[in-house]
Amino acid sequence: MSKLATFAKKHGIKYFMVSFTDLFGGQRAKLVPAQAIADMEADGAGFAGFAAWLDMTPAHPDMLAVPDADAVIQLPWKPDVAWVPADCVMEGEPVAQAPRNVLKTLLKEAEGEGLYVKTGVEAEFFLLTPEGDAISDPFDTAEKPCYDQQAVMRRYDVIAEICDYMLDLGWGPYQNDHEDANGQFEMNWEFDDALVTADRHSFFKFMVKSVAEKHGLRATFMPKPIASLTGNGCHTHISVWDKTGKTNVFADDAQELGLSTDGRSFLGGIMKHATALAAITNPTVNSYKRINAPVTASGATWAPNTVTWSGNNRTHMVRVPGPGRFELRLPDGAANPYLLQAVIIAAGLSGLRSKADPGKRYDIDMYAEGHTVTDAKKLPLNLLDAIREYDGDAALKEMMGAEFSSAFVKMKTQEWNSYMGHFSDWEKANALDI
Ligand code: ADP
Ligand code: MG
Ligand code: MG
Ligand code: MG
Ligand code: MG
Repeated sequence: MSKLATFAKKHGIKYFMVSFTDLFGGQRAKLVPAQAIADMEADGAGFAGFAAWLDMTPAHPDMLAVPDADAVIQLPWKPDVAWVPADCVMEGEPVAQAPRNVLKTLLKEAEGEGLYVKTGVEAEFFLLTPEGDAISDPFDTAEKPCYDQQAVMRRYDVIAEICDYMLDLGWGPYQNDHEDANGQFEMNWEFDDALVTADRHSFFKFMVKSVAEKHGLRATFMPKPIASLTGNGCHTHISVWDKTGKTNVFADDAQELGLSTDGRSFLGGIMKHATALAAITNPTVNSYKRINAPVTASGATWAPNTVTWSGNNRTHMVRVPGPGRFELRLPDGAANPYLLQAVIIAAGLSGLRSKADPGKRYDIDMYAEGHTVTDAKKLPLNLLDAIREYDGDAALKEMMGAEFSSAFVKMKTQEWNSYMGHFSDWEKANALDI
């Protein structure tokens, strides 16, 4: 019996949701009855790639999404169904632009050098009304709502349900809180291998949205859903381990902030490629309303605007919170879970190979004193800037794969053009009487 058929029998699964993630981070799936899963497990479920956000035409052959049986998850809120992430194949070859394939290729490359990347993500979200135009809790109005005890308890039913599911799934969740914006929450679980984290990150988004809907709410990971409030970040913590999984090769107590020479070089790669990788960590028009943003109602955006790094200081793009790991604070809630991990590994590996220097460490309050920093690059000001930076970074494009990179730049440029074709009220207000 196939692995998934066995799983179905053991857990009473009626349907499998065979799911892949497209270039824009959308999750696409087919619901396959358990009776038919054995064939799909061998050959994949068929999709027309053009119908999702992939660089394909309607004339392309079928794309087959082959489920990764080892990553299957029974939906805790709908136990008849199991979600299983899939790897895309076309005419017997892996689809090079498919995000999970991009990540797997980079993981193999790292493994070839004896390196195993472990990451944790902090996927912040808002709970809104079902229409998505207002915070769902009318009493959640504090100027500094972070860690608001009363407000988090008013959403206890939603938060505890999701956390209970993570406990059951064995993810090791360890804290939940109200975040810095009204209506915003964060739930944290333990870091793991980058592919495991990417799959969990995908599933987490699906789960949060589904549970919120069940409670008559709308969850969003949109980078800046409410103009005046702190946006949805997706900080990513990174460490690299040896084959045994017991030695953190980023850790060296004898060195600055407990970061080893390899850790520094990996960080050097992130710093070097930051303005380009922003196209992936901050992939939407709206992303650029979170970074480079004016001060929010709470007093800080908690998002970076400049390519700087620091020790335990949250005003910079990279924070080294403790020995042997660092936190990239750039990514936002729109980042594709697979491409997010992939681009960090791509930039980091290229930094390791070239022994890249992360440059000067800043310990200032970047929000108050950022103007004093004259030797650091600014992050892109909009999506087009970021796409151009990515397109101009030959080394990063090569690391991410030439076929993926050209597909990504093409599709994202199309998206930018669609945005530019949209006529806004602001234009009329500012140009009508010129
Ligand atoms: P903060 O809000 O202070 O940035 P959180 O506790 O919200 O931190 O999130 C920290 C994330 O980093 C978690 O997912 C955690 O498991 C992960 N993490 C902790 N140590 C490491 C490490 N050595 N390597 C990778 N991720 C780590
Ligand atoms: Mg059909
Ligand atoms: Mg956090
Ligand atoms: Mg947070
Ligand atoms: Mg953080």
